Formats: sequence, structure tokens, C-alpha cells
Amino acid sequence: MRAIVYTRQSMDAAGEGRAVARQAEDCLKLAESRGWDVVAQYEDNDISAAGKKTRPGFEKVLADLGAGRAGAVIAWNLDRLTRNRRDTVRLIETAQEAGAVISVVRGSDLDMSTPAGRMTADLLAAVARNEIEVKSDRQRRANEQRALAGEAPRNGRRPFGYTLGLTETVPTEAAMIRDAYAQLLAGGSLTSLARQWNASGALTSTGHRWKADTVRSVVAAPRNAALRRYRGEVVATGTWPAIVDEAQWHALVAILSDPSRSTSDDRAIKYLLPRIALCGKCGARMSTGSKARGQRTYKCLEHHHLAVKAQPIDDYVTAVIVARLARPDLADIVDPGPDIDVDALRTEANTLRARMAEAARMFADGTITGAQLARINGDVTARLEAVEAEMSEAGERDVLARFVDAGDVAEVWEGLDILTQREIVKALFESITIMSPGPGHPPFNPDNVVLEWRRGDD
Ligand SMILES: [Zn+2]
Repeated sequence: MRAIVYTRQSMDAAGEGRAVARQAEDCLKLAESRGWDVVAQYEDNDISAAGKKTRPGFEKVLADLGAGRAGAVIAWNLDRLTRNRRDTVRLIETAQEAGAVISVVRGSDLDMSTPAGRMTADLLAAVARNEIEVKSDRQRRANEQRALAGEAPRNGRRPFGYTLGLTETVPTEAAMIRDAYAQLLAGGSLTSLARQWNASGALTSTGHRWKADTVRSVVAAPRNAALRRYRGEVVATGTWPAIVDEAQWHALVAILSDPSRSTSDDRAIKYLLPRIALCGKCGARMSTGSKARGQRTYKCLEHHHLAVKAQPIDDYVTAVIVARLARPDLADIVDPGPDIDVDALRTEANTLRARMAEAARMFADGTITGAQLARINGDVTARLEAVEAEMSEAGERDVLARFVDAGDVAEVWEGLDILTQREIVKALFESITIMSPGPGHPPFNPDNVVLEWRRGDD
């Protein structure tokens, strides 16, 4: 019979931790005593960092047995061959299918060609499968309970803004996060924050320079508002100190999940109206950046039927906005922000989350059925979403507010970054449609820019 010898170097149990050379020697002796032909020797090394994740040798054993290239695998003992229960199940299933023999120096063979061997293998595999289930179930329950109790997640990395385990905030970093909230809620950009944080010399908690993405993942984390997330959902109020309040966090998440503010857009958008302006021929969005006759144009994103010089349009829209913002009645169109009792909402949100957690426990105990759980969750989720939306509204500030009593509106406008300017465009206009200027190259005509006001048109 053709056989494979498998050895693994690891640092576990002393008696089994024989050197690889000794393991191989014992295995080869066993093969010889059986009269087997050793066709391959595979080895894994668990001591190296890579070995903790992958076991190429073990995978080759499975492949060879599965393909019938060998009828037996020899190892020093079964624990040496399979590092965990999952490996055991895979090995036994492969050997069973191939009718192969699993042979060990210390222990008895599992010969899948005999009824006794198959029965023992079935039993071993069943035990291993059960242990996998019990273990993962136990772990899942423990994790879930910790999450519902609002305990900090137990992973080894220190989150930016906090000490390891979230026991306390790191004041300088917490201040940066608060400042980031203030800027983002007022229309600032992630890219600009990344630049500022890099300029300040601050690094991520893993020692890297900031990018828009990493700033986003730090600021958007619910832990900043002492909210405990579990499997992607906020499930409880955490037991650690908050850096920002819950309403601010909801507002930030709402802003960051607005698709027109994705980080790739942040990097790409340098002008006032791309993806805001609409094509006058088909209503599709327009892009910019491409040049025709040395001039930037707004171009229909869907068809090749409209391209219009961009700068005169930007200048015109800017002039209209500045004129509107400079009017003394600006305060009348600025939303003063809703009068919302955030504390009451937060209390209600926590009560709702507790009710969901309680329902989940009752379902686990068998007190209620799956259908009842689904109904309770449906009701609670709907209300929770409404409450969260209200909190989010409470945290948002009107982008126009800065212009009330601003003095020189044009100067304030010039000082804003492009993303904030775009937020203002979106706040003021329902739509901006760019009509075809007609044949030839006629001079710019403001009538070809159709502005539909959202507010301020009175
Ligand atoms: Zn079009």
C-alpha cells in the first residue's frame, strides 16, 4: 500500500512534542513493519506565525488521500495529525470517502475498509462535531451575554480614543474625535481630517498614518457614544465612558452613510456641481473634469449628448448663492434645529434595546416562539429606528447657520472647503438642471441653468 508520512512541529504537550525528526523516524519504522511504500512526507510547522493559520502539509494529505494517490496516512498520533476538531472531522470524512487507513504510532489504526474501523471513525467524528458545536455555542452565548450587559469587546487592539479594554479615554485622542465630530457635522470632510491629523503627528492606534477610511472607521464607531455593538447591531449602552453623545453619533452615521459623501467621492470631488447638476436632455447626473477646447465641462454621465463649459456655471451658481445668503432675511430660512428632548429619546432607545434583548432571552429559554420573537423585534425595531432618526435630526446643524450675521458672506463662502460648499448647494436647491446652450458656441446664458429652490425662494 502507498502511504504518506505526516509530521508537525509544535510546542504542545511534552510527551507528544517529539522532535519532527523523531516523529518521522517512528512513522517510517511503522510503514516498514507493515510493508507499506512511503510515497510522500509532509510536514507543518505550528511554531512559525504562518503555521497558526494554514497547514499546507495537512491540506496535501487530504488532497492525496482524496485523489487516491495514497491509501494510508501515518502520523505519530491522532492529535499530531489533526490540530483541532474541525481538522478531525475533515480528515475522517476524507478517509471514509477514499476507504483509506489512518495509522498512528501511538494508538490503533482507523481502517476505513473494515466495519470496525468505520464505526470507530464515525464515533470519533461525531464526538468532534459535537465538541465543535458545544464550544461555538457556549462561546456565542458568552459573547452575547457580555454584549447585552454592555461590557467592552474583548479583543486585543486598543481603539483610538481609549485605553485597551475601553477602561478610560485617552484625553488628547478623545479631543481629536470630538473635534472631528464638530467638523463633520458642520460639513467638513474625512479627507481634510486625515490631513489635519497627519499634520498634527498623530498616528492610528496601530501606528499608521491616517487616511479618510481610517478616520471614518474611528469616528463612526458606536463605542465613541458608549454604545455596545454586537454582530453589527447596537445592542446596549456600554459600561465605558462616552466621548460624544448618542445624538451626535446618530447624526454622524446619517451623514457618513449618505452615498454622495462616500470617501471615494471625497477624494474625487474638486468642483461645485458634479453629481449634483442634472442633464437638461435626459435628467441624468453630470460629471466634470474632462476638458473640451482647454476648458472644463459638465458632461452628461449617461449619454454623449450634452457637454457645457463648467466654469461660467460654477461662477453663476456661486453668485446666486452668495446673494441669497447675504440677504438680511437669511435667518428666516435657516432651520433653527428641532426642539427635541434627546435625554428622553436616549432613555427610550435603551428601554427598547433592553426589550429586544429580553425577548431574545425568552426565545432562547423557550418561553416564547420564534414567531412571537419576530413580532416583538419587528415592533421594537420600527420604534427604535424612529427614535434614532429623531436623535440624528437633533444632532445635525443647519449648514446655512454659519452665514447668519456673517458679515462678508462672499468671504465666508470662499473660506469653505468644496464639500461644505456642495452641502450648501444641496441644502438650498432641490435641483440644478443644465440646458443645452444650442448649436455653435454661444456665450454663457444664465437662463440655461435652471435652479429649483428647496428653500429661500421667496
Ligand atoms: Zn443626458
